[in-house]
Amino acid sequence: MKLDEKGLLIVLSGPSGVGKGTVRSALFNRPDHNLVYSVSMTTRKPRVGEVEGREYFFVSRDEFEKNIREGKMLEYAEFVGNYYGTPRDEVRKQLDNGNEVVLEIEIQGALQVREKMKDAIFIFIAPPTIDALYNRLKSRGTESEELIQSRIEKAKRELGLAYKYDYIVVNDTVDNAADRIMAIIRAEHAKTERSIHKYKEMLEVK
Ligand code: 5GP
Repeated sequence: MKLDEKGLLIVLSGPSGVGKGTVRSALFNRPDHNLVYSVSMTTRKPRVGEVEGREYFFVSRDEFEKNIREGKMLEYAEFVGNYYGTPRDEVRKQLDNGNEVVLEIEIQGALQVREKMKDAIFIFIAPPTIDALYNRLKSRGTESEELIQSRIEKAKRELGLAYKYDYIVVNDTVDNAADRIMAIIRAEHAKTERSIHKYKEMLEVK
């Protein structure tokens, strides 16, 4: 299969509280895309309003561990006491059908995908400042000051891993961040290695 007939795998990642989920929703609300979201599997309980198979596939720890043993996860990580992971088969199927597949995952998982999928595009979503991240976590109102501080420390360590990504997108506003990601996807499609064969075919036409 030629490279550009396969869809792109786009990995959105970044520290907790940076707004990955919001940026991803904004991206999917754009009218002009053929992005497919890879629904993750998790052992955490559904939040109010979350629907099985839409936000996540909600499973027990036993079931998740069975999927790991059977090699069904493209990546997985433990995050705040729960497993989260990407089921491999659906991603492969969508890519083979030429769809652009978006993963929105935390950093340990993204680094596993980096090892396995050399063609994937890795986008690190960064906060404009550490203060902005603090304010975001605080305004969620779901965590104690102590937990927020430990998340900030974790986020600082994670920011140090941004160099492993292909792109860094600052989430100053959600719309700006979504614009930048769309621009990255368009530029990736125009990359020589993805489109050179079409150009060659054109020159061969008598
Ligand atoms: P939440 O519980 O808030 O939905 O998600 C917690 C964290 O898990 C977020 O940073 C989210 O991006 C990450 N996450 C969601 N799905 C996956 C996944 O399939 N794999 C990994 N590694 N992280 C995930």
